[in-house]
Amino acid sequence: MAFKALVVDKDDEGKTSAAIKTISEADLPEGNVTVAVEYSTVNYKDGLCIGPGGGLVRNYPHVPGIDLAGTVESSDDDRYVPGDKVVLTGWRVGEAYWGGYSQKARVNADWLVHLPEGLTTKQAMAVGTAGFTSMLSVMALEAHGLKPDNGPVLITGAAGGVGSVATAILANLGYEVAGVTGRPETADYLKSLGVTQIVPRDEINEAIKKPLEKEMWAGCIDAVGGEMLARLLGQMKYGGSVASVGLAGGAALPATVIPFLLRGVNILGIDSVMQPYEKRVEAWHRIAKDLPMEKLEDMIVPAGLSDLPQLGKDILKGQIKGRVVVDIQQG
Ligand code: NDP
Repeated sequence: MAFKALVVDKDDEGKTSAAIKTISEADLPEGNVTVAVEYSTVNYKDGLCIGPGGGLVRNYPHVPGIDLAGTVESSDDDRYVPGDKVVLTGWRVGEAYWGGYSQKARVNADWLVHLPEGLTTKQAMAVGTAGFTSMLSVMALEAHGLKPDNGPVLITGAAGGVGSVATAILANLGYEVAGVTGRPETADYLKSLGVTQIVPRDEINEAIKKPLEKEMWAGCIDAVGGEMLARLLGQMKYGGSVASVGLAGGAALPATVIPFLLRGVNILGIDSVMQPYEKRVEAWHRIAKDLPMEKLEDMIVPAGLSDLPQLGKDILKGQIKGRVVVDIQQG
């Protein structure tokens, strides 16, 4: 049976182009579970893979989409039966393997997680890799002693996907949340998610002048990296931890080791792609419990398959606010 997918191809000159095509099950790659994909979302990596690939895509033609949620249609694996609601993030799906921008996906059962009770496929994709990574960050900070009484938590790239979900989770858990944004027009949105202090990007996004500043933040989830991460290390409270998630502002870390040596500050690396199954299940259950769904609904920007080429460009320019949810069946 024919269905639609966003297919990226590469011409003889190495130029890529993305278009919606009609394909069939015979075109799908090998795998032991076939999923009728209901929703997906748009991440920075998706922007790269819809466009020139950024070195992530191995072979063309390629179907991007690093996240998907849907219903199992057929399965050769005992853990999944037709009708199961499932979510898939990471494992290099949508980069090295065909991903979720297709009305059907054939995948490896090891990559899937059953949706926890109370979470729909649409909500799961409003969460997506960005929100899943936010929860992994919260779990890592908690494991390193973060509690609401310790003081405010700083979120960088606050109006982006990771930042929005991290803010909503932490505010719901009783934390005071400060958000860094370069887009002042998102202030009302950020306040609605639970930010009580907005830090303008310009105030913090500059080369460090001194390695230690006033102690301000008990914890931090950093989606930006670069000079901003270097600078905020010197603003952490004694013993505070920074979950390093992203590089929206750069991969370099022009910092000194002084905050580590004199204030016991920690950097916790967060990877969502290769997380083991048990940690994934824990994170999705925490999402269902600790992320207020009404706030998640407010973050949703609805889209269809045909919107993806433009959305891919927008996310690479940092122009997406909140969580894009792509209705894959809408075409
Ligand atoms: P988004 O594009 O939705 O958000 C990133 C935000 O960062 C923007 O909204 C903007 O926030 C801010 N920003 C963008 N450009 C700059 C800049 N040049 N300098 C400072 N701030 C900037 O992306 P996501 O939230 O989905 O992802 C954030 C980062 O996390 C990305 O680098 C992504 O690759 C990474 N990531 C890592 C994962 C992992 O497993 N470690 C998983 C998921 C994402 P504002 O407008 O509020 O300033």
